[in-house]
Amino acid sequence: MKAKVYRPFNAPRSAAGKRVTKTGGFRGSSRERGYDARWDRLSLAFRKKHPFCAWCIQEGRDGLTDLVDHVLPVVDRPELRHEWSNLMGLCRECHGRKTSMEVYARERGELDYLPAWCSEVTNRPPQFVSINPINPEA
Ligand SMILES: [Zn+2]
Repeated sequence: MKAKVYRPFNAPRSAAGKRVTKTGGFRGSSRERGYDARWDRLSLAFRKKHPFCAWCIQEGRDGLTDLVDHVLPVVDRPELRHEWSNLMGLCRECHGRKTSMEVYARERGELDYLPAWCSEVTNRPPQFVSINPINPEA
């Protein structure tokens, strides 16, 4: 079975089908970025073990895992690409905030704080905590 490919819902694409980055460069396909068959198996196993979004759980919601995220980004820590403890299941909405938090951390030289920020909602800079009501229908 072919693994489902998750992309940001608003990712712009060039005519050549490559994602255009904010800096005007091109982002390769997932395969070109090293997401291989080993990653497919690992991320599938991880999603089976973690069907609910880690951040939604921390914030009292029950969002489902849409994708498996690297706590410390692969671009910064490629040796942790297949490290189970560096993985986190997130929904799309939380993944968007995680990505913004990576940019924030990188700009401030605080990438090493990402594991702590990801592990507990109270550790996280407040701008990266969801403002969505917790269990609005409860
Ligand atoms: Zn979530």
